[in-house]
Amino acid sequence: MESESGKRFDVLNPATEEVVDSVPECTREDAKRALEAADAAQRLWEDVPASQRARLVLKLGDLIEGERERLARIVTAEEGKPLKEARDDVQGAAEYCRYYASLARQIEGTVLPGEAKDRTIMILKVPLGVVVGITPWNFPAAMVTRKMAPALVAGDGIVLKPSSYTPLVAVEIVKLVESLGAPKGLVNLLTGPGSTVGDELVRSPITQMVTMTGSVEVGARIMESASPNLTHVVLELGGKAPFIVWKDADVEWAVRSALWARYWNAGQTCICNERTYVQDDLYDSFKKKYVAAVEGLRVGDPTKSGVDMGPLVAREQLESVESSVKRAVDEGAKLLVGGTRLSGPGFERGYWYTPTVLEDVDQDMDIVQKEIFGPVTPLRSFDSLDEVIEYANDSEYGLASYMFTRDVRTAMKAAHKLRFGETYINQVGPETVHGYHAGFRKSGVGGDGSKYGFDHYFSIKTVYLDYSESPEAPYIFPYA
Ligand code: NAP
Repeated sequence: MESESGKRFDVLNPATEEVVDSVPECTREDAKRALEAADAAQRLWEDVPASQRARLVLKLGDLIEGERERLARIVTAEEGKPLKEARDDVQGAAEYCRYYASLARQIEGTVLPGEAKDRTIMILKVPLGVVVGITPWNFPAAMVTRKMAPALVAGDGIVLKPSSYTPLVAVEIVKLVESLGAPKGLVNLLTGPGSTVGDELVRSPITQMVTMTGSVEVGARIMESASPNLTHVVLELGGKAPFIVWKDADVEWAVRSALWARYWNAGQTCICNERTYVQDDLYDSFKKKYVAAVEGLRVGDPTKSGVDMGPLVAREQLESVESSVKRAVDEGAKLLVGGTRLSGPGFERGYWYTPTVLEDVDQDMDIVQKEIFGPVTPLRSFDSLDEVIEYANDSEYGLASYMFTRDVRTAMKAAHKLRFGETYINQVGPETVHGYHAGFRKSGVGGDGSKYGFDHYFSIKTVYLDYSESPEAPYIFPYA
């Protein structure tokens, strides 16, 4: 929406530092107006049958897919990921619409016998009201419908607040839903600083749930700001995924998978391989192949085909990655490859970092404990399964984990012992629309995807019904 302030701010292309476009710099007043509009629209929307609500969401999925190339180019321009990955992000946005639309006829409750003759109890799922969806920059398209599609199918209204680095594709997706005739105000989008606009949305008594994807730091702040109104929060936060390669793994596949899981989106994915543990017997051969594969990554203009990795999203992100690597090296880690900004032709402007691999890292170093969110692999060997599971679980994060082995017993032991919301065995993500994407420990509260994620968009209400001809007070606890 436009801002009452009349101000706008620029969105930069991280590959060139050129201005891609500008968007309104919304204010707290704008946030209040958006919530009031969503509240009014939601009261009518909840009376539309779920199957009809789903039709709108289904059509949105088709529109997004139909505009995939245009939207993907916007994602690449504002976020920097290679076009092929941006297409997947946009396709993901379409698939979230389709998946949640498919759940419209599965909004199930429970019917139970009452405590007297002619009495019954119905436990129903009813819409929450107005939901606030706050999204990060790393998947600027898919994150929007991951929040909007379940809200609309559930009968909720939604106010969206995308990351200030990447608001442009979110604006386009909201234009598409408006073009389908969505009731005015039902879906609202505000661009502007999270610290003011986002904060206002979180603190408002109109907001019934905040679903936010982003960093642990901001997630904790949101939880605190939501607490005076006891507003529900669903927080999908950072990760520090261990990528474990057991000695019997298919080494070629493990190398390709570890590489993809790390350098995908320039390492800026919450389920990225953030620390690679390789069993002693395989360590040297894995390391050789992995380093060669990292050296072979093609980094460059993300709009060109054949490019594996683009720039980091912003200067702050580049500086953060750079200082993580420097600290690790100062603490004794050994650089096997990378460790510098990229320079030379094609890299004069923008936020470029070389794909990097470190070894000789200890469990207590920041590089192993803190989220890097960049193209850097800390590599370490281990001896036994118990030892590596201990290393893996020794983290304040608990989002994704990976296990590569051909032995089903090792795989199942890891699946049970790894204390993470997701364990990928012999495969890399991304998470699917029908899997529950949720973190343990500081990686979050609640989650998105699957019927479990959909449940967050409802209130659960119990209806007690007496349908007897001549009601009487029931004789409760006759055997007490
Ligand atoms: P971020 O800095 O936490 O920002 C996330 C969103 O919160 C942005 O829209 C931001 O707006 C907004 N925000 C900031 N301060 C706020 C406040 N006080 N109240 C309300 N909203 C506020 O995260 P990010 O840097 O965009 O994303 C990277 C992080 O997201 C990483 O840690 C990554 O692991 C995590 N992530 C997690 C998942 C998952 O599913 N678990 C998926 C993707 C990413 P502004 O941009 O205007 O500041």
